[in-house]
Amino acid sequence: MPLYDYQCNKCGETFEVSATIREKIAGLEVVCPKCGSHKARQLLTTAAVLHGGKEVSPSVCGPNSGAGCCG
Ligand SMILES: [Zn+2]
Repeated sequence: MPLYDYQCNKCGETFEVSATIREKIAGLEVVCPKCGSHKARQLLTTAAVLHGGKEVSPSVCGPNSGAGCCG
């Protein structure tokens, strides 16, 4: 189950939410574990940050992609 990073708009707390893709599409309701606020925004994933903030397409494969690339 994928994890999503969220930051609370009210208190600034960052937290992770695990949800299935189906739940995410249906409209995931997140609740801040610190203050209980429902207003939180999704943060970029750690993987995206490591690539300089750009999202890397998983369909792009190269000689250094390693095992498991493209299924
Ligand atoms: Zn909060």
